[in-house]
Amino acid sequence: MDIILAAEPEIRLTAFLSVLAAMALWELAAPRRRRDIPRVIRWSNNLALVVIDTAILRLSFPILAVGLAVLAEERGWGLFNIIEAPFGLAVILSMLLLDLAIYLQHVMFHAVPALWRLHRMHHADLDFDATTGLRFHPIEILISMAIKLALVAALGPPGVAVLLFEIILNATALFNHANINLPRPVDRWLRWIVVTPDMHRVHHSVDPRETNSNYGFNLPWWDRLMGTYVAQPAKGHEGMTIGIEQFRTTRDLWVDRMLIQPLRGPASGHALDTSALTPTSRNSLWTLENTVLGSRVTQKGTHDETTYVLAGRSGCHTPPASTGQHGTGH
Ligand SMILES: [Zn+2]
Ligand SMILES: [Zn+2]
Repeated sequence: MDIILAAEPEIRLTAFLSVLAAMALWELAAPRRRRDIPRVIRWSNNLALVVIDTAILRLSFPILAVGLAVLAEERGWGLFNIIEAPFGLAVILSMLLLDLAIYLQHVMFHAVPALWRLHRMHHADLDFDATTGLRFHPIEILISMAIKLALVAALGPPGVAVLLFEIILNATALFNHANINLPRPVDRWLRWIVVTPDMHRVHHSVDPRETNSNYGFNLPWWDRLMGTYVAQPAKGHEGMTIGIEQFRTTRDLWVDRMLIQPLRGPASGHALDTSALTPTSRNSLWTLENTVLGSRVTQKGTHDETTYVLAGRSGCHTPPASTGQHGTGH
């Protein structure tokens, strides 16, 4: 186990670079969507962020998840080490529980306004490709690691399980953000066992109903079990707008802007955001949409659709072209 621990940085770096290279080639060979932003801007800034994140993480914690799991095994800490669970069972259960924890943590980062300020930076990428999967604010990375360390200490998972989980999560994050065109039947089959790019792209839609869905990074089952699954974007994968409404300029894609983004503007668009929907505004907006949409508003679902669109637009500075015709004076 000490050998694995000593080789962990090399194992993980090799796996990361191999999967990143494979996805980059795949994106060139079979892209799913047309690129709007030159690759050089996004790739250089997203990759610079990875270097900053890794340095801050290594400097901030004396021990990371795999190291803590090995220490817990040696000292007999945590549930699986106390009950001496069979190794295979402990590996499988540990990986499942770690993945569930990542799902729940992701939901929490969408629901709590202060945490959404950090996590929305991941969503503010204006194109969606493998490097989007690496784009997380360093403070979000630190909070994630603290949660993971607490879980590892309580659970006492085998070190191998944590190492495997970290490598697989890193690889699937690159895969499910990749701008690759999987044949539809393959996607339909594959998304029963892993989150596919088409499934996760829905989560990067500018439409808040879609942003606040498909939280899984690895296993797709949690979204289906918890009722947060949305199969496809309403406007289709080619027609949908990627990103959030607050940060839509090319300058916002630079790493210095990414780092200060949590401090800029209101925390609008999080999963619990109803700030734009006071009773008065709800009525006046309802009337406005009634005029704009004509007979469509007689259907029950349309009112829900209207309120969500408007909730997502609170604090919006640059209305996207796709919804600009419903201007409401924000
Ligand atoms: Zn998210
Ligand atoms: Zn994502």
